[in-house]
Amino acid sequence: MKLIIDETRCKGCNLCTLVCPYSIFQEGTTPNRRGVVVPVLDRPERCTNCRLQKLYGRVLCGVCQMICPDQAIRWVDEKPYEPQKVVIEY
Ligand code: SF4
Ligand code: SF4
Repeated sequence: MKLIIDETRCKGCNLCTLVCPYSIFQEGTTPNRRGVVVPVLDRPERCTNCRLQKLYGRVLCGVCQMICPDQAIRWVDEKPYEPQKVVIEY
């Protein structure tokens, strides 16, 4: 699963940047075509939902999705050939 922010819905309120326990959402710096500064994702593969939602068949954590007032956060299936970034944390 892959975490995405729907730029057509996001209004840049940055509530998501406040709640993620892994600080995956970071405040953006560049306005998009609608003039909205959408947060950027920092190594979203660390998200428990990205890693484990499919395995467990239910949403794990999901706080960002719950707090987003514009339903702009969701997870999509990844294509089998999409490269997976591997992050090693110490
Ligand atoms: S589901 Fe939880 S861990 Fe994943 S991005 Fe949202 S707040 Fe962060
Ligand atoms: S909480 Fe939703 S609307 Fe607000 S910045 Fe995050 S994704 Fe955008």
